[in-house]
Amino acid sequence: MSKIGFIGLGRMGAGMCARLCAAGLPVVVHDVSSDAMAAMVAAGAEAGTSALDVANQAEIVLVSLPMPDIVHEVLLGPNGVADGGAVKIVVDLSTSGPAMAQRLSEGLAANGISSFDAPVSGGVAGARDGKLSLMASGPEKDWPQVEAVLQHFGKVFYMGETPGAGQTMKLVNNLLGATAIAVTAEGMTMGIKAGLDPAKMIEVLNQSTGINSATRDKWPRAVLPRTFDFGFAAALSHKDMRLCVDEAQALGVDLPIGVHVRDLLKRVLDEVGADADFTAMALVTEADAGLALDRPA
Ligand code: NAD
Repeated sequence: MSKIGFIGLGRMGAGMCARLCAAGLPVVVHDVSSDAMAAMVAAGAEAGTSALDVANQAEIVLVSLPMPDIVHEVLLGPNGVADGGAVKIVVDLSTSGPAMAQRLSEGLAANGISSFDAPVSGGVAGARDGKLSLMASGPEKDWPQVEAVLQHFGKVFYMGETPGAGQTMKLVNNLLGATAIAVTAEGMTMGIKAGLDPAKMIEVLNQSTGINSATRDKWPRAVLPRTFDFGFAAALSHKDMRLCVDEAQALGVDLPIGVHVRDLLKRVLDEVGADADFTAMALVTEADAGLALDRPA
């Protein structure tokens, strides 16, 4: 079997790539972080010296990178994947937005390369355990080859041939996921200020109609213990909400709730810190209400 390339071995990429290695597939990897590289070589991958080196060896190249402009640079910039001698298919697993997916598709097609967007949902644990949800779009003729690789990561949904269809689906998902955190922070802050016990509130909500992904996962794991380390950076969540609001505006759709959540995430970056987790939306909401609960060390 020809090699699979994997570029971007961060919180999500490391988990997904390790699953390919564990399945015995030949994988060649690249990341700008030497620690990330060393961990994946220990998991069984071969080290590529650059993005271009990976694309000179692998027919299918997957990328999981933090920001859309980095994805563009790695794929279409100087010495990027598009210049590779072996690559025929590129799959962007990052949340890059539909407009970028369109640009990537056009740029890669000019080099005879088939492009897929396949953003993922399910967090660090989902990546590690093969329990992600993947929302993919790209040319139908190459889909079976792409699906055969993506099925190692979880449940795969094919959204059609239109470049960016998977990205649009992902932005809608993240609008709902981030909004769940923001509104849960409001409700919890109100209850705490009125004297209710936060752990008891979460227990009640999770047996009632208020249950959502924040009450079920985020509060028990990262807010009630006051660790604020769920594993998704507020900077990346803010990027998602920015892409979502911009894309909706381009479609002529107003997202007043989405705008509020986007701006709340900007406040997390300004008031809690550039490295904050997205669950720190609760800290900002509590502070606004004059609550002085524990903050992480
Ligand atoms: P991360 O910051 O943990 O990892 C990104 C990796 O890319 C890092 O290892 C970094 O060294 C590497 N990198 C950066 N620039 C590079 C370059 N030019 N060349 C090679 N490697 C480079 O980010 P993450 O949390 O793994 O997120 C990756 C993507 O997945 C993002 O688009 C994010 O929005 C999306 N996502 C994240 C989560 C999550 O829970 N963390 C969930 C769903 C989707």
